[in-house]
Amino acid sequence: MDIQVIGVRDLPLIQRGDDLPALICEKVAFEDGDILTVASSVYSKAKGFTRELAAITPGAEAVRIAAKTKEDPRFVQAVLDSSTDILLEYPFILSELPSGHIGVRAGVDHSNVEDGRLIILPPDPMGAAAEVRDAIRRITGKDVRVIVTDTCGRAFRRGQTGIAIGWAGMTAIDDYRGDTDLFGHVLEITEEAVVDEIAAFANFVMGESHQGVPAVVFRNCRAWNGHDSVYFTPREDIIRTALKENKKD
Ligand code: GDP
Ligand code: MN
Ligand code: MN
Repeated sequence: MDIQVIGVRDLPLIQRGDDLPALICEKVAFEDGDILTVASSVYSKAKGFTRELAAITPGAEAVRIAAKTKEDPRFVQAVLDSSTDILLEYPFILSELPSGHIGVRAGVDHSNVEDGRLIILPPDPMGAAAEVRDAIRRITGKDVRVIVTDTCGRAFRRGQTGIAIGWAGMTAIDDYRGDTDLFGHVLEITEEAVVDEIAAFANFVMGESHQGVPAVVFRNCRAWNGHDSVYFTPREDIIRTALKENKKD
């Protein structure tokens, strides 16, 4: 059967303490095997992973970097607080988060939230996806797979796309190594980042502004087998090594 893509509409503005899985279950009749993608922004709002700019006192490092990036030092402090390693400071901060995700400004967001407030990414996005999946199973009895998404820039190309920052009920990668192509050649290196492919299309359905579609359901997606090692180890990651070398100059 062809894949069906269903945007979850008519959800309210999400507030701290809202039961997001329950709100989504009111709008969707889930079926076993569905893949639910949830924007990290609404998950974070429901869980209170937000910060008041006025309550942030920037330290010397934030002030130093903010002078280069021309951003609010309090915003930069929030980015530093979310980060475990800074790969680039200028023209934008590129940093690693505790989950292993590397993103511009640590994914700290001031859109789709009240003035003066920042949304930060869920500190444990894998746990977030698992929690939403478990909650949906409790509410509906259905076995739903979950991807938590964020909109992210990419190296080498203009334009942002959705990517997966957490997932549950599936592996991140569909591992084709050992499979044969149409001509019988054995594939040696093909590992497909399926969670990112689905997240990217989900992001297209969600939009970036006032659309109010923070969740998207994919029905009839095939299952796949692979692994979750989506982040390069520091040794494998030659781009990261080059950036850090450059930063020393
Ligand atoms: P991000 O990609 O996770 O940073 O999330 P975005 O801020 O880009 O929002 C993704 C989608 O969710 C867009 O359609 C937004 O309009 C929508 N959205 C964001 N916050 C809310 C909310 O509180 N309620 C509803 N109903 N939609 C929201
Ligand atoms: Mn975001
Ligand atoms: Mn977005």
